[in-house]
Amino acid sequence: MQIYWTKINKIIEETPEIKTYMLDCPEGFTWEEGSHTHFALEGFNAGDKPNRSLIRHMSISTLPHENSIGITTRIKEQCSQFKALLRNLKVGNEVAIFKTHSNVPLKREGKNIYLLSSGVGLATFRPLVLDYFERSDHVSQIHSLNIDSSRDFLFTTIFESAADKKFTSQFVDNRNDYYEEVKNLAADKEGLFYVVGSDEFLVQNIEVLREQGIKPEQIMLDKHKQQLPEFLSLDVSI
Ligand SMILES: Cc1cc2nc3c(=O)[nH]c(=O)nc-3n(C[C@H](O)[C@H](O)[C@H](O)COP(=O)(O)OP(=O)(O)OC[C@H]3O[C@@H](n4cnc5c(N)ncnc54)[C@H](O)[C@@H]3O)c2cc1C
Repeated sequence: MQIYWTKINKIIEETPEIKTYMLDCPEGFTWEEGSHTHFALEGFNAGDKPNRSLIRHMSISTLPHENSIGITTRIKEQCSQFKALLRNLKVGNEVAIFKTHSNVPLKREGKNIYLLSSGVGLATFRPLVLDYFERSDHVSQIHSLNIDSSRDFLFTTIFESAADKKFTSQFVDNRNDYYEEVKNLAADKEGLFYVVGSDEFLVQNIEVLREQGIKPEQIMLDKHKQQLPEFLSLDVSI
């Protein structure tokens, strides 16, 4: 396993609680849209075993041609040791990234794509949408639906409806509106539904989508292949 140590080159205050840490691209490091990585702080590998409290899974919110690896995360006042340490990092400080992989690349199958996310989960979708804007081949259209109760919505200049790009973006601040809209979107029985958020959020979305007749193979989750059956409980008759 290759560990890439790299430097923070910029810290963007996206909202009062959300920051994007832009990291220098180490030589030889590349990724595709929808990727997540292991993001680790200094000292994580100092002992015999890796110190898990200094490592978190994080999506990469940028594309390679942006020349920085973007890590977007919410840091609340009450936070873990990891986030407290991260909050104090400055431009020039070093962090490590390793084991990078995409479970949710943009599927170019000529279908409508629905991106369902909660809060900072939108970060996973930012590179998918940018990739689609650059090249829309074999994607009929994209619709994004994000729920954030803080109402400080993320990436609003990119996630802005644009008829000419066949892109629609909706932000809602409550669960009622959110799940009502998921039901409406699920009227498209041929669509591909990507879902990103907490496990509880995934379970609830899958339940609503399945009730509307969406099949497990139409639902994309940022989970490894082995974990998918656990979520897309294949006990339901297909
Ligand atoms: C594939 C994958 C991709 C991911 N991508 C991202 C991503 O791009 N961005 C991202 O942010 N996360 C992402 N995550 C989730 C991430 O790995 C962390 O689990 C998440 O950010 C929570 O971080 P944390 O454990 O440091 O807790 P925190 O974010 O610090 O806390 C979680 C919650 O617990 C509360 N809390 C924590 N500590 C305390 C305390 N001491 N007292 C009171 N309340 C407390 C916080 O207020 C918060 O509500 C991803 C996970 C996976 C599996």
